[in-house]
Amino acid sequence: MSDIPLSQPDITDREIDAVSAVLRGGRLSIGPRQDLFEQMVAERCGRRHGVAVSSGTAGLHAVLLALGIGPGDEVITTPFSFIASANCILMVGAKPVFVDVCPRSMNLDPTLVEAAITEKTRGILAVEVFGNTTHLGALEQIAQKHDVPLIEDCCEALGGVSAKGRAAGSFGRAGVFGFYPNKQVTTGEGGMIVTDDDKLADACRSLRNQGRATDAHAGPDNSVGSWLAHERLGYNYRLSEIAAALGVAQMERLDAMLEARRRVANAYMQRLMDWDDLVLPTVEPGAEATMSWFVFVPKLTATYGHVERDRIIAGLKRHEIGASNYFPCIHLQPFYRQHLGHKPGDFPMAERASQRTIALPFFNRMDDTQIELVCHTLKVMIQREQLLRRD
Ligand SMILES: *Cc1c(COP(=O)(O)O)cnc(C)c1O
Repeated sequence: MSDIPLSQPDITDREIDAVSAVLRGGRLSIGPRQDLFEQMVAERCGRRHGVAVSSGTAGLHAVLLALGIGPGDEVITTPFSFIASANCILMVGAKPVFVDVCPRSMNLDPTLVEAAITEKTRGILAVEVFGNTTHLGALEQIAQKHDVPLIEDCCEALGGVSAKGRAAGSFGRAGVFGFYPNKQVTTGEGGMIVTDDDKLADACRSLRNQGRATDAHAGPDNSVGSWLAHERLGYNYRLSEIAAALGVAQMERLDAMLEARRRVANAYMQRLMDWDDLVLPTVEPGAEATMSWFVFVPKLTATYGHVERDRIIAGLKRHEIGASNYFPCIHLQPFYRQHLGHKPGDFPMAERASQRTIALPFFNRMDDTQIELVCHTLKVMIQREQLLRRD
């Protein structure tokens, strides 16, 4: 049996040694690895600050809080994303205002975003879907023109560079990366806020650390000092030294890992290029060599619907090949239908795309035999659908 997973973290002895060193050293939280990891990620996207947090979601939550977004405010965002990019808006009591996507890039359509801005708009939360940086520059300009902050959910785009040479994480007032095990870099669980804004960074550092002042410390001789002074309602969104050490070891290998992912993506592209029933993932034109691949998600052509797509995914799984329907639309999730009154047809581009996408196995060490087997099995499943149709 094949058993090819949808994704797989790339952990070497370097990572294991780095984590062991932390455990042997005894300092398990708030230490030098956190600082180093922050520096490395910030530097990678040309930002002044990195603020390590316990997850991508925690990072997005902290950024919206630090920007003062709350009840009565609207934040424009995409319905085609992982749920966290909209949930964080609800978490601060604001209203997510969904806008449809561009059917090729699957990112927010800038023209529709501009048309959706009202006097209640307090932010635009854009996602680099599947690592694609398309439209981020245009969204940044719209945000600047209307004087609302762009919040960049770059959780899927670490290390990516746009066609114009801009790093993922460099577009928004703040950007947020995520380090869940399926991401390009993992810390098990983790995230990182990046920004050039000193005050915003400071507020995020305080929010992640129980609302303490950023210079809080235990007093000399271990008396309480300012450590037990809490200036604002804060959270425990800290990243442990264990996780940060893993992140540092992963960041040291980032270029090699991105290269490995590019090789796998290109191998898929080569094999699937001539298939009439598939639309291949789009890369921002000009960013082919610099995009950071998060997943590999081709789309069935418009003659297919979700019934066929779901059957193809089930068929792949029966052959022990990981596959998934990235992403179901956020506005059609039960919670969002219930609370925001959304219904099918609200965002047709996002919905049409989301019914036909298939995430295929994608990880750094995927070899040609595995890629070949995935493509072969996918072809068999699509051919079955064609037979069913003619029957
Ligand atoms: C992974 C991801 C996040 C963050 O997820 P966490 O599990 O909280 O780290 C947020 N937004 C998008 C689009 C993601 O893919």
